[in-house]
Amino acid sequence: MKLSFRGGVHPPQNKNTAGKAIEKMPLPKKVYIPLSQHIGGVCVPLVKKGDTVDKGQIIGNVEGGLGCPVHASVSGVVESIEVKTSASGVKTGQIVIANDFEERLSPDIAPIGKSVDELTLDDVIEITKKAGIVGLGGATFPTYAKLSSGAGKIEYLIVNCAECEPYITVNHRLLLEQPERVLGGLEILLKVLGLEKGYIAIEDNKKDAIDKLEELNESKRIADICVMKTKYPQGDERQIIYALTGKELTSGHLPFEVGCMIINAETMAAVYDAVTTGMPLIERFVTVDGDCIRDPKNLSVRLGTPINELIDYCGGLVKEPHKIIFGGPMMGVAQWKMYAPTVKGTSAVIVFSKQQRKRQTEQPSCIHCGRCVGHCPMHLMPNYLVAFAKEGQLDKCRQFDILGCVECGCCSYDCPADVPIVQTIRVAKGKIMEQIRAEKAAAAMKEAEKKEAENKDNTEKTENTEEKGEK
Ligand code: SF4
Ligand code: SF4
Repeated sequence: MKLSFRGGVHPPQNKNTAGKAIEKMPLPKKVYIPLSQHIGGVCVPLVKKGDTVDKGQIIGNVEGGLGCPVHASVSGVVESIEVKTSASGVKTGQIVIANDFEERLSPDIAPIGKSVDELTLDDVIEITKKAGIVGLGGATFPTYAKLSSGAGKIEYLIVNCAECEPYITVNHRLLLEQPERVLGGLEILLKVLGLEKGYIAIEDNKKDAIDKLEELNESKRIADICVMKTKYPQGDERQIIYALTGKELTSGHLPFEVGCMIINAETMAAVYDAVTTGMPLIERFVTVDGDCIRDPKNLSVRLGTPINELIDYCGGLVKEPHKIIFGGPMMGVAQWKMYAPTVKGTSAVIVFSKQQRKRQTEQPSCIHCGRCVGHCPMHLMPNYLVAFAKEGQLDKCRQFDILGCVECGCCSYDCPADVPIVQTIRVAKGKIMEQIRAEKAAAAMKEAEKKEAENKDNTEKTENTEEKGEK
């Protein structure tokens, strides 16, 4: 029986580039490196205008807290440091480097020089942090933080090869063309986490990649290859955990709390590179597709390359673009300009014309068909959540577990009334998060006032005792 989960949808897969080998993009004349490309703090620039930088050099880093550095993806000269709107819509600084095409490697880059058996978890945490590795499936959570929080609690180390979003095929190509990097990364993490074997979670629409992995795994036997039913959002970590272990991850909980750690296939390959060569994350694979693209391709791209250069390399546009998406069409982030730089979380650039636009209803109104409830993999009631959100009943939204929504978009995808369900939920979640932050701040303030009052009380008591003693 194929592994799966309850709910979900079957959008047309449109894996048009599955047969296209990864092509290396020519080096760009300039790269634009945003200082925020991960979950966590924004990096502080470590270079200034006019500085010469080497490929792989750390040019920005976070000052404490969660986050990881950004690196120069080419050698050259820092042309400017400017504030721009990032791919996620937030205004952030970005470092512009004019490429000198010398490909001068930073002297800081060197392999750790230990065999897999000699590596420790601390070594790998340090290496992945320095290399700026984050979840490359789109989540961009720093990998070192995932390793630190999961240490000693993990039973299942799972490589996420599901790639359930339509159009995207970079993981599929990685598994076909460079599977040894993925299994190499897995071997390293198994060793340092003290595990005997890992699990490779892959959908059944990648038969050739499954065969390749089985062939490679034959000698080492470090993983169980778990073939899952092709269904969206099978790549969501909660759905993978359920499919492979039967464990349910409820909202507010993290995979390590049920003994699981999930690492995307390309992230695993980046871990392998960083440990074996010292190379930080300066390049990634990107699928370029959509009905506007003349010749859809899979590309290997230096971070910071503007997306118009990717599109040009794919033969340019054949139709007027209506929507540019970073990531897949279900969960990706729409971009407002063609010049946004490729960042760590850019697994795909999809360009759609107006003909691909699904929503036709001008004033969408729920017809109570219940389809969204049936499709929701988190077992929520999206129709109720929308109704409460529209009426501003945030308490009711919280009661109906709106924060459990993973924003997969299954509800919106099949809504016959075109209700903008996930968009409405996302806005309500944002307001609730603000509410929660305010509640936490108020509670912290109250606690501080209480402590201050107690201290004052203790001081007065001590003074009174001392006074009595003197008398
Ligand atoms: S799928 Fe759309 S129309 Fe049907 S219940 Fe959900 S919100 Fe209403
Ligand atoms: S309510 Fe959230 S989790 Fe459920 S289907 Fe909609 S977007 Fe996905």
